[in-house]
Amino acid sequence: MHYDNIIGGDAAPGDGSVENINPSDTRDVIGTFARARPEDVDSAVAAARAALPRWCASLPGERHDILRRASDEVLARKDELGRALAREEGKTLAEGVGEAVRAGQVLAFFAGEALRQAGELVPSVRPGVEVAVTREPVGVVGIVTPWNFPIAIPAWKIAPALAWGNAVVFKPAELAPHSAWLLVEILNRAGLPDGVLNLVMGQGRQVGQAMVNHPGIEAISFTGSVATGRGIAAGCVAATPMKKVQLEMGGKNPFVVLDDADLDTAVEAAVHGAFFSTGQRCTASSRLIVTEGIHDRFVAAMRDRIAAMRIGNALDPETQIGPVVDERQLATDEEYLAIGRGEGATLAHGGRRLERDAPGFYLEPALFTEVRNDMRIAREEIFGPVAAVIRVRNYEEALDVANDTEFGLSAGIATTSLKHATHFRRHAQAGMVMVNLPTAGVDYHVPFGGRKASSYGPREQGVLAREFYTIVKTAYVAS
Ligand code: NAD
Repeated sequence: MHYDNIIGGDAAPGDGSVENINPSDTRDVIGTFARARPEDVDSAVAAARAALPRWCASLPGERHDILRRASDEVLARKDELGRALAREEGKTLAEGVGEAVRAGQVLAFFAGEALRQAGELVPSVRPGVEVAVTREPVGVVGIVTPWNFPIAIPAWKIAPALAWGNAVVFKPAELAPHSAWLLVEILNRAGLPDGVLNLVMGQGRQVGQAMVNHPGIEAISFTGSVATGRGIAAGCVAATPMKKVQLEMGGKNPFVVLDDADLDTAVEAAVHGAFFSTGQRCTASSRLIVTEGIHDRFVAAMRDRIAAMRIGNALDPETQIGPVVDERQLATDEEYLAIGRGEGATLAHGGRRLERDAPGFYLEPALFTEVRNDMRIAREEIFGPVAAVIRVRNYEEALDVANDTEFGLSAGIATTSLKHATHFRRHAQAGMVMVNLPTAGVDYHVPFGGRKASSYGPREQGVLAREFYTIVKTAYVAS
């Protein structure tokens, strides 16, 4: 099947197309997807600008109903959407369905937010004057997303944009356009006026960059790697007019295991955080920081647990770990395995390429031990099923090591000590802290985001999402 860009409510072919293949079985072509040109970005922006006045002025009830209808459809079709997602991205069927459900929940949450919009009437410090503080849409918002959460991340950016009356030009990742296409189609059919939501597929350097440069876009919300995000931020500031920008980027998330931890809780959280979704999560626990009293027991239990995991075709319901997303990411993972060995770390388990019935990008989850925090495998985001165990003496050293990173997205701790849990919650330099829970896996109704190189700009999700998708107006009225 062929999928076109969607501009102004119509199919737009762009310039040629690319095949999208299933990483669990590279013989399986999911479809061909149109490649947008910079001219298509111009058309998408023109369509969004034309639709903006009517959408800005739409009533909250209309926005609510459309988002609600889209949510209902996503939830009703969760199995089909989850399967499509697992097929194109390689996360397991259960994770794919879970992500589709997440997208439906996010749409429902922001349907509610559309109705909860409020302003403030504030007494002036001057007599006879009233001050009104209200929020207005930003305008046309450009949304650029990565491949690893191909329906949830688009949903958590598009839904608040629409709830607060913005028009959208959306560019999904090249590796996972199908889920994005399905989401846009559902939202448009739920009743969005033509041009309010436009989809342009294709290469980041071309299509994404054209959006960053485009004077008809007021703001860019981006999720992806630090290098890309940095370039986008610079482009947004250099553009005329300057654009508002929000970036969610990489992580090198620490998960601390203290001597007093419940071993099963620690191992489950570490395995989940490090290896589920094939380790391809910005919140993955890629650094396991373990105090010396529990270190050997923890490593032994991790090896047993990893050895028992079923790695295979994402669409097989028995599979617990799917393939790596593509050949390039697999090569990156293998390069880091070589770097780790070269740096003197011990590959305690895994790291081999696996053969399965179908040709795919299968990699055995890998656990390094004897890792120092200054090694590249402890400092750079690998974005694969590779975790590094760092041995430390005590809690104080664990906290220092946890915070000794350029990133600051999520940080976790396994402990039965209230004192250490509380101290860690207060002192971990991360946007999200998890106690006796995996570093990955978050709720949909509260803020999401990080510190340091992991995030830039206002938070996503929850009520704080409005900070990015609205601008504040302060009006002074003489009575
Ligand atoms: P990426 O940076 O390569 O690409 C992300 C998006 O940006 C894609 O749509 C891509 O086409 C586009 N892009 C690339 N170059 C561009 C340019 N010059 N101008 C505009 N757009 C451009 O990232 P990826 O490989 O798709 O995703 C993996 C990364 O995403 C990891 O670093 C991961 O940690 C991060 N991520 C972060 C979060 C978070 O919320 N913090 C969530 C998921 C993924």
